[in-house]
Amino acid sequence: MFFKRKTKTPCRACGENASLDVVGKVAPTHPGPFHTSEFELLHCPECDSVYLNPAPTDDDLRVLYEESVQFADDHYTSDEQIGKILEYYGSAVRDRQLLSHGEARVLEVGAGFAWVSRASKDADASCFTVAQDVSAECADKCAWVDQYHVGSLESLPASEKFDLASMTHVIEHLVDPESMLGAISSRLKVGGKLFVTAPHRPTGWSPKMGIDAWKAYSYLHVPAHVTYFSDTWFKRVAPRHGMKIVHWDAQHEDGQAFELVLQRI
Ligand SMILES: [Zn+2]
Repeated sequence: MFFKRKTKTPCRACGENASLDVVGKVAPTHPGPFHTSEFELLHCPECDSVYLNPAPTDDDLRVLYEESVQFADDHYTSDEQIGKILEYYGSAVRDRQLLSHGEARVLEVGAGFAWVSRASKDADASCFTVAQDVSAECADKCAWVDQYHVGSLESLPASEKFDLASMTHVIEHLVDPESMLGAISSRLKVGGKLFVTAPHRPTGWSPKMGIDAWKAYSYLHVPAHVTYFSDTWFKRVAPRHGMKIVHWDAQHEDGQAFELVLQRI
């Protein structure tokens, strides 16, 4: 089933007045408890993003991130997995020319194990890496990070400017992703780059296809994943914060995830 909201309402993702498409209802995929168990996905025809409605509340976010351990399983700790993950990030650093010169300053937002910092150090040991995360879980496990900052991005001195910032599988968790783009952009030097990866949508999905494919989509995390982005969203929103798209690839994982590079102009 698929229908449009009759009255135009502001899209929570891009801010435009839009006749939002109701993709369908989704139930929590995490045990909770959350402020509601009645969530739906909306699609905005203006920015082509899909987002969770209602958004998670502050209490919901506490349940998701402060009351659970995120990185305990083998996926992140076996040598084989580490090799695969570093191969990917290493090729991204090289192929996307993320380190433009020696002694580059790198800021990894929502860092966890700080893979981009690790791949950057491997590619060029002269870079200086700063990792930021609200959780201290990985802070003492990342020898490749020069400065691991536990706290919000806002609590890092705004005067520190960077050549490269990254958000890998982070932006989909944010209730206000645009303000984060602005906060990162203000910390980039002119010409500096922001590397982003995140879930996109189920393979081959278009709005007329409705909700079924979403229910089988491995990245449908309710309510942890708030927004599933498109290139149109970044084309609209990035220029508001002094950035432009220099690379977009939504073919990752059979079209289920995207890779993006923005540049500060
Ligand atoms: Zn929109």
